[in-house]
Amino acid sequence: MQNLIQSAQHIVIFTHMAPDGDAMGSALAMYHYLGGNAQIIVPNAFPAFFGWMPGADKILVYENNTEVCNPVIAAADLIICTDFNDPKRLGPIGEKLLANPCPKILIDHHLNPMDFATEVYSYPDATSTCEIIYRLLYGDLRETDEPLTKLNETIAACIYTGLMTDTGNFSFNSTRCELYEIIAELLRAGLKKDEIYNAVFNQHTADRVRLTGYALYRKMRLYPEYHLALITLSAEELERYHYQVGDTEGLVNMPLQISDIYYSVFMREERPKPGTPSSRIRISFRSQGDRPVNIWAHEIFHGGGHANASGGEIYGTMGKAVRLFEQSFPKYLKKED
Ligand code: 5GP
Ligand code: MN
Repeated sequence: MQNLIQSAQHIVIFTHMAPDGDAMGSALAMYHYLGGNAQIIVPNAFPAFFGWMPGADKILVYENNTEVCNPVIAAADLIICTDFNDPKRLGPIGEKLLANPCPKILIDHHLNPMDFATEVYSYPDATSTCEIIYRLLYGDLRETDEPLTKLNETIAACIYTGLMTDTGNFSFNSTRCELYEIIAELLRAGLKKDEIYNAVFNQHTADRVRLTGYALYRKMRLYPEYHLALITLSAEELERYHYQVGDTEGLVNMPLQISDIYYSVFMREERPKPGTPSSRIRISFRSQGDRPVNIWAHEIFHGGGHANASGGEIYGTMGKAVRLFEQSFPKYLKKED
């Protein structure tokens, strides 16, 4: 990796659609490691609660700046991809990425990466892509003891954001002691851990909190035999609460607070884009323990992901999505006592 970085002049960093904390953190950690000599491009907008992240104001959003981004992508002589395993997760950028023959570095923790990169750092057992980045730059996987940029408070903040969000603030997938050894090093570098929690989780609008209340009180359906919960929110309902990107982040996890609910699904309707006939229904799947949801997400909802956290989508009405869901869950979920 260090060799490819040293010989590049025009580096572009990509991360996945609907960027989450690990996507933002991993892309920005690389950006700061490169001394800011890179351009991060994300397919679509990131939530406002990541706006505080150092360098977030320099990120280009492809959907809103296509004309600016296309020549930057074409001129790249190194592309660094973080936190996704398939160019399809970049939406329309995917084709632009493949069209540029320059070397590509993939750093990711999703299973079975597609074969498109020159160098692949894929560790599906890692908590997050940010963990892999720490280990590659400063930890057990490092290639040099003289990093381009020493670990500092800025890079620590980016890395910590991914560790924190991809483990649900260290509530799952977070039992390995090496994780806490990394956090200890981040703290030594000046990490302001509690401020980051506050910036990500305690800066919401009143509308967002009310939307969460409405979704849980009025829109949560339980399927007790299957220990399953479903929440749906239509475009009209979201508009009623002045929905902004990220406002439903984490909602899918909330039904899992119920003692005998092990599976949770959340469906969100996006109005059709101009020129397209149908709404897009974005679907999030979560589960606990040995109850994988990724095959279900893949086979029925054109998606995939981790065993306990997956996503997918369909085009059509919410009614169609719910029918597909109700027809398919008995095949994919365990019926338990
Ligand atoms: P979320 O519910 O937060 O949108 O997604 C949860 C996880 O599922 C993500 O971290 C990602 O790994 C995976 N995922 C979400 N959407 C898709 C998709 O459309 N395709 C695939 N392959 N994985 C997805
Ligand atoms: Mn991740």
